[in-house]
Amino acid sequence: MTAKALDSLRAAKRIVVKIGSALVAEDGLARQDWLNSLAADMAAHRAAGQDVILVSSGAIALGRDRLGPDRPRKLEEKQAAAALGQPLLMAALSQAFDARDVPVAQALLTLDDTENRRRWLNARATLETLLGAGAIPVINENDSVATDEIRYGDNDRLAARVAQMVGADALVLLSDVSGLYTADPRTDDDARHIPVIEELTEAHDDMAGDINQAADVGSGGMATKLAAARIAQAAGCMTVITLGTAHNPLTVLSNGGLATYVLPSMTPEKAREVWLRGHLTPEGTVYVDAGAAAALRSGASLLPVGVTRIEGRFARGAAVAIKDDAEHLIGKGITAYGAEDAARIAGLQSDAVEAQLGYRGRPALVHRNDLILES
Ligand code: GLU
Repeated sequence: MTAKALDSLRAAKRIVVKIGSALVAEDGLARQDWLNSLAADMAAHRAAGQDVILVSSGAIALGRDRLGPDRPRKLEEKQAAAALGQPLLMAALSQAFDARDVPVAQALLTLDDTENRRRWLNARATLETLLGAGAIPVINENDSVATDEIRYGDNDRLAARVAQMVGADALVLLSDVSGLYTADPRTDDDARHIPVIEELTEAHDDMAGDINQAADVGSGGMATKLAAARIAQAAGCMTVITLGTAHNPLTVLSNGGLATYVLPSMTPEKAREVWLRGHLTPEGTVYVDAGAAAALRSGASLLPVGVTRIEGRFARGAAVAIKDDAEHLIGKGITAYGAEDAARIAGLQSDAVEAQLGYRGRPALVHRNDLILES
């Protein structure tokens, strides 16, 4: 079972790696040697043709000493510490990845960026562009502006949302425990390690209990890791929870290091389809010509040139129905243009869109990844 899970991890096309504060920082300083070894591993994955994204905690841990002698407790103190520490975090990571000639890019996200479809389209497009350019996106929560109501609060869940957003097939949570145990292994000698989970149940949550909740830095524990694994599982992405403390943690993992694998029950593509089917309530209709209808059925995106007219009022990021002129429903999808702009570019070749709108929009009105066809 573990061997099979390990094979799927090795075959992953897109991997999101999350590192916790305790791995990034020690006594307020970056653990540069360890970060260098992680960068070497990630660069090797990239060189092997896998897309890799890093979700890194550690801003607060690196910045808090600069705020004052007392540990930051209030939300605004933590936010200020994060603002002080985020550039230090990026400096340490840049140094690590520069040595491998790999460019790193910073992306700070708030909850809205993955929950609001319009912003989600933007964030995803940016991440795709960065990956296409061969860069490694480094993501953290935008702690300095995110307040209690609009926070992820922990990077485990943020990493899972990112994995979902980019259709990753593996999420690797590097932490200070080597996965899920039947009880806390630090206090219970009978605790057994669980190598593979196919279905997450309440029994697993009970086992996670509050392991690591008392951690000195960072906010995640085993419970948030399982919460992240649930999000990833629903998105068709496997989650690997493993010890990251050794140097070259990803090499250790792919050589069979101890880990808990939470397996998905479907592929990211299938999961996206299921999600789209459950979430798309059309707010308007995009009518298309016969050529576009045929192209859509063969798996293409919907380009402005194939659109004949628009009906309804909707914003960018809304769900729309796609019909032919005989009112036959072809599919549903998420639109990259609001109704007004969509109407203005209907029938235009993609290279004429910018002149018409005054800005360069997305090439597709509905991207094929955001589309489901009616059978
Ligand atoms: N965003 C926080 C930081 O960079 C960490 C959140 C977490 O511990 O999961 O310090």
